[in-house]
Amino acid sequence: MNKKIRPCKYCEDEFEWEQKVRRYGGYANVCADCHLDRPDPDANTPVIRGFVTGSGKMAAMQILAFGSKDDADAYGKAWNSNSGWNNRRSGGLNDVNFVKVGENIGNANHKGKSS
Ligand SMILES: [Zn+2]
Repeated sequence: MNKKIRPCKYCEDEFEWEQKVRRYGGYANVCADCHLDRPDPDANTPVIRGFVTGSGKMAAMQILAFGSKDDADAYGKAWNSNSGWNNRRSGGLNDVNFVKVGENIGNANHKGKSS
């Protein structure tokens, strides 16, 4: 059996699943035609992106989840146009809906002084 070719679970046509998933997303056992005829299975999948900032002595990273690829792209664009150390990063970033998934931020007390 050639594993690059799979039968579609709806119409049983054989198709190259890797090519289909790369181009349209969705399931590997549903052909492109059936995929486009049905509700998008990726519609509710969050878009996850990572953003790096400068905080303390390390590059901090935040991982954000967006409601859509458009939101993620809008945030990425605003982020890049506000780059730079000590930038307040407010230009347009708060207009985009996102949820913080995780972050790895430098410890502000990196010298271990008691506060
Ligand atoms: Zn099909």
